[in-house]
Amino acid sequence: MTQIRHSVVIIGGGAAGAGMAHRLVGQLKCQDVAVIEPSEVHYYQPMWTLVGAGVVKRETTWRKTADVLPRQARWIQERVVAVDPDRQVVETQTGRKIGYDWLIVAAGLKLDWDKIDGLRQELVGQDGVCSNYSYATVAYTWELIRNFQGGVALFTMPPMPIKCPGAPQKIAYLAEDYFRRKGIRDRSTVHYLTSTPAIFGVEKYAKALMEQVIRPRDIKVSYRHNLVAIRPKAREAVFENLDSGETTVLRYDMIHITPPQSPPDFIKNSPLANAAGWVDVDPNTLQHVRYPNVFALGDCAGTPNSKTAAAVRSQAPVVVRNLAAAMQKRTLSCAYDGYGSCPLVTRYGRVILAEFLYGGKVRETFPFDQGKERYSMWLLKRYVLPIVYWQGLVKGRQWPWPIPRDFGSGHGPV
Ligand code: FAD
Repeated sequence: MTQIRHSVVIIGGGAAGAGMAHRLVGQLKCQDVAVIEPSEVHYYQPMWTLVGAGVVKRETTWRKTADVLPRQARWIQERVVAVDPDRQVVETQTGRKIGYDWLIVAAGLKLDWDKIDGLRQELVGQDGVCSNYSYATVAYTWELIRNFQGGVALFTMPPMPIKCPGAPQKIAYLAEDYFRRKGIRDRSTVHYLTSTPAIFGVEKYAKALMEQVIRPRDIKVSYRHNLVAIRPKAREAVFENLDSGETTVLRYDMIHITPPQSPPDFIKNSPLANAAGWVDVDPNTLQHVRYPNVFALGDCAGTPNSKTAAAVRSQAPVVVRNLAAAMQKRTLSCAYDGYGSCPLVTRYGRVILAEFLYGGKVRETFPFDQGKERYSMWLLKRYVLPIVYWQGLVKGRQWPWPIPRDFGSGHGPV
């Protein structure tokens, strides 16, 4: 196969990769950018929570990749299977070898459905098993919630890290609200089983959720419980208590599964990986710790922030500026501070907008207490953030949050 070479190669054309491509051709005026992205379509995944709750149709959550990537960049529609950072070469599934001067890794993460014994992705979307974590299965979540006649509804959360750690509980809250409105709440058990030791990683929002949602609405929560096996025909789920090692079998009428998640194999098996398999970048500069011509952002980056599109909004301007500095052999002056955001949908028409930095330090955008459920934040999630995503993030525009001149990054939820 012919070997080709590009000045900048971006792996992945999702939330992080598409936005980076626009920034490189628009802001840095890079003439020779290639994006390696196998998928014909680009998804706005944050909207799948509302698709699963019947608020929006799933068809509104995608665009053609060709329309999302900048025309000035070359789109290589292939899947990366290996990276050799010592030779500065990426290999695709057809055996094509693509050389680069600068590499940006933005390949997202992998959903490991089959780490749950008895489950394969094909089994999600039938027999009472649903998940908002894939376009193929999200519509079935709404079908189950809408047709629920009472009984046991289970919602699971695997061990961290996962993308949008708030999403597994948001759908539980929406389902509970729907059952209440339908008049079947008194004959329904809503049970959220999470591998984590608390309802949310940031204390302020954990407290808000306990006081405003979990306790008053009688939602059952089991901490440190991990779904390890499922028997869809018998409608039984097996959970392991991560502290005691004991297993419990629960019967259900519907179950919403958030699959275990891990780094893409080509990263895990490459010298780019850290011990956990994610891209080993400096958590502030987002430059690789051993290969200075490699940067990473988004879900595949080995940084201890919450893996969200909102984090990408903050990371992207940092990568662009630091990449420009590295290209000009200047010191990297821009730092990502760990910003992440989670619009915690607590019921139809209400959202607690969590925003925080590394270490769980609260950092809110609005001049009111975001720890309160609000209709205005629902409107933000439902109507404003899709515009911010499609017109801002993936187009590489920071609007409406400004970029500070020399340090830090533009913030804002997505
Ligand atoms: P992605 O957007 O997933 O893109 C990765 C891209 O890489 C994909 O296009 C993929 O095809 C490509 N790729 C994968 N493997 C390869 C390969 N081998 N070679 C080349 N390309 C490859 N975030 C929020 O900010 N707020 C929310 O409310 C929110 N809610 C969410 C709800 C759900 C149900 C889900 C699933 C996610 C949610 N997120 C939310 C998270 C958000 O969608 C992700 O964090 C964001 O998309 C990360 O961007 P990314 O570019 O790293 O990954």
